[in-house]
Parts: sequence; structure tokens; C-alpha cells
Amino acid sequence: MILLSILSAGYTVSPRLYTPVSTRSGVEDDDIIDGGWLDEVIITPDDPDPEPDWPDWPGPDWLDVEEPGYGDDGNLWDDLDYWDDSYVEEPADDPLVSAIQQSSTLTSSQQAKLEEALRKLIGEGCMQEALYNALVSENVKLDFGMKTGTAPAAYDPNTKKITFNDDVNITGESLKEELFHAWQDAYYAGGIGQYGKDAQGNKLPGYVNVEFEAKVFKDIARNLDHGCCYIFESDNIPSQIRYAYYSWIESIQNNTEPLLGENYMTWLNLFNQYHPEYSSPTNDNLASPLLLNILINSSNCF
Ligand SMILES: [Zn+2]
Repeated sequence: MILLSILSAGYTVSPRLYTPVSTRSGVEDDDIIDGGWLDEVIITPDDPDPEPDWPDWPGPDWLDVEEPGYGDDGNLWDDLDYWDDSYVEEPADDPLVSAIQQSSTLTSSQQAKLEEALRKLIGEGCMQEALYNALVSENVKLDFGMKTGTAPAAYDPNTKKITFNDDVNITGESLKEELFHAWQDAYYAGGIGQYGKDAQGNKLPGYVNVEFEAKVFKDIARNLDHGCCYIFESDNIPSQIRYAYYSWIESIQNNTEPLLGENYMTWLNLFNQYHPEYSSPTNDNLASPLLLNILINSSNCF
């Protein structure tokens, strides 16, 4: 019934009502499967002249540390007036990752990739940044490492570890989903391991809830001017359902419709129906989009 009322409300593709936040830097291609590989968006750095015609950098020994308040952007040149005597402190190698990292078995080059991936994710949009801030404020600490021969990226609630199966999958796109799972694991009572798979690989009740919330996060976090959506995009899904889902995401971004449990469950049930790769029995403990509303209400994204 709820879906019917959504459908009858009238869906328009153009013009799109959603006005992107100016700081958003673009969104990836569609057809994303959990942990799947996507091309990364190239984000143009703020510095218009990345190779200024300055004398050779004197090197760390030369640094006169006087300004501990160095920013997080990691670009030493940005805030530096070379001719001023007040040189800034050289930033740590991974200032963003270190705030959410317990340990890492990544190589130094992989760790640098991780830092860059996280920087891209945070810079991609307001909700992405809000997710990172939530992880930091909740003091979520993760392990990072590699795990070949498996999903491109994964979060293991038993070890609190995010793994990548290849260097090319150390991306902001991978982190977007896995960091959300990490936050779910930290927030929901008993963690999300209880909603995973059993020893035989069968999906346990609640599996679909956990995955659906992560997908909706990624969709409401995206810039719709670059397309939509992560789910309900397959050709075998009736077009009116695809359009209605788009319209629902758009209404959340436009703040014209609160993210209510009733509508949320309607879409969760449709997700369960049309995305068999994620389908499982639902779990009433996860019937409300609690984390999505926390992010929406604690940020000024919409
Ligand atoms: Zn997932």
C-alpha cells in the first residue's frame, strides 16, 4: 500500500529537484555490487599550482616546528608561507586513517593508498564525511589488512578487520560500504556478527537488514546528478519500482519526506525480493533505519 501511494504521487525524472552540495566531488558509476570495483573519481586538489617554482624543499631536518595545528589535508605546501619563518609541522603519514585504526598489516604503499582512499571518501560528500566523523566520535578502531582470493573488500565483525583482496581495491568506494558495516557493528547491540552467515554459508535472519541499510546509506550519500542508484537498478526490476526508489531517495535528500520505518521496511522487503544475492529472513531488531537517521540528524547534509 505504501508503495502504491509512492507510485501514484507522480514521479518526474526531469527536472531533478535535488541540488547537489557544492563541495561534492562526484559519484561513481552505477551497477555496484557489494565490495565491487569501481573506477575512482579523480578529485582535483585545491592547490592550483601543485608544483610551485620554489627552491628545493629543505627536508625534515630543516623544519622548525611552530604550528602544531596543521590541517588534515596532508598537503604540506597548502598552508605554508615559505618565506615566513613559521614552518608547519610535517603531518603524520596517515592522519585520517590513524583516527580509526587499531592496527594494520598493510605495506607502507598500501597504507598510503588507504589514506588516499579515505581522503577521497570523506571529500566525496557530506554524508560520507558524517560517517567518518561518527566512527571517530564513537572511537571505533579497526584493523586493516589484505585477504586474497575473496571479496574485493570485506569487514569481519569477529576481528573488527577490513580487508582488501588486491591493491586496486583499496578505494574510497570499498571503504564506503565496509566502514558503514563497521559502524553498524559498533552501534547495534551484540554487533552484526549475529546477522551474518552460519557455518554452512547460509544467511542468517537480519543479513538483509544489515546490507539494505548500507545500500541506502550509499544512495542517499550520492550526488543524484551523477546518477542513481546502487540498488533497484537491474533491468529485471520493473521500471516503476526503480523510479519510485529513486524518488524515495530524492525525497530524503530534499528533506521533503522523513526517513520513517514504515517506508523503510517497504523498500527493505522489495530489496529482499529483487536482490536475491542479499535476501534472508528479516530481523525486527533492525527494522528501523537508526543509523541513517543518526547521520541525517547529526549532520546538516540535508
Ligand atoms: Zn555489505
